[in-house]
Amino acid sequence: MNDLKPSLYDFTQKELTQLVKPSFRAKQIYGWIYHQYAQSFEDMKNIPKAMKEELATKYLLNPLKIVNKEESSDGTIKYLLEMQDGKTMEAVWLKMKDEQYDESGELTQEAKYTICVSTQVGCKVGCTFCLTAKGGFTRDLSAGEIVAQVVTLKRDNNHKHNRKINIVYMGMGEPLDNLENLSKAIKIFKEEEGLAIGGKRQTVSTSGLSNKIDKLGEMDLGVHIAISLHAVDDELRTELIPMNKAHNINSIIEAVKRFPIDTRKRVMFEYLVIKGKNDDQASAKKLVKLLTDIKAKVNLIYFNPYPGTPYDRPSRANMVAFQEYLVKHGLLCTIRDSKGIDISAACGQLKEKTQGEI
Ligand code: SF4
Repeated sequence: MNDLKPSLYDFTQKELTQLVKPSFRAKQIYGWIYHQYAQSFEDMKNIPKAMKEELATKYLLNPLKIVNKEESSDGTIKYLLEMQDGKTMEAVWLKMKDEQYDESGELTQEAKYTICVSTQVGCKVGCTFCLTAKGGFTRDLSAGEIVAQVVTLKRDNNHKHNRKINIVYMGMGEPLDNLENLSKAIKIFKEEEGLAIGGKRQTVSTSGLSNKIDKLGEMDLGVHIAISLHAVDDELRTELIPMNKAHNINSIIEAVKRFPIDTRKRVMFEYLVIKGKNDDQASAKKLVKLLTDIKAKVNLIYFNPYPGTPYDRPSRANMVAFQEYLVKHGLLCTIRDSKGIDISAACGQLKEKTQGEI
């Protein structure tokens, strides 16, 4: 990770055991950072002072600082996080399901949350509907910076380490363009003595780098994939996602067919619906044909306009008609609620706003 100081979140438990002796100290430190969400080396009460001082000279404990936070009425919280080099990126806390109570008012089910994390500062892909793309690419996030987003948001929301959480790699950046650090972060999240977030709770959302979908599949990490398809013909897809020229729809579909998918699961296809571009019945028909041999689920997403965008939000009627066509033809299909619609919900918006650009 360039010449930046690594953080303790950059290491698997095995690596930490090699760095810190005796090994039971590594286990204690792992507990402090993942179970107690320690904010400073001082917090680590049972670690000898000399060891803490030495660790502090070599490693960061808290690689992220919350510099802005916007909370929506639906429970979505969007964070702007600053790293040690002053660069910023976003992570989002999403409430997926409300808590449930029985008739006597007893809590029967806790609320369910998903954290949307970033993998890069900026992005190279250049999607024309995306604010992040406007700023170009700055750098990859380290594995520790990816992991620390989840720890930071769980800590800020008093979400205990052993409460279940889902992760989607769907924030700023193209995760598969930072595959080495992404795969390490996935492994660190899975550590039984850390956060123990299994592969099936982690979804890698990609704009469709077909060769990297294959590489991720070969790693056999047990994660889900989600494909940002957005269009059913290469012409429109190249307009929306210019790198479609190198990774066209057919190459993506073929890579998905080769990906090791848990037989009980479905591959998620994200379809950003834009008024007058891809919200018609002919597109729905083509989509059904394209996904014929795949155990797929389609997630229709309303395009969320931001200042300066040439695209518009589709009508509710078109969304529903699109969904009905897919369902009638055997596809699972949901319309994603526009979570955080009253805050800066499109990718990159909070960062842009905080920098005073919009
Ligand atoms: S939508 Fe995602 S892949 Fe496309 S430019 Fe934005 S961050 Fe990159």
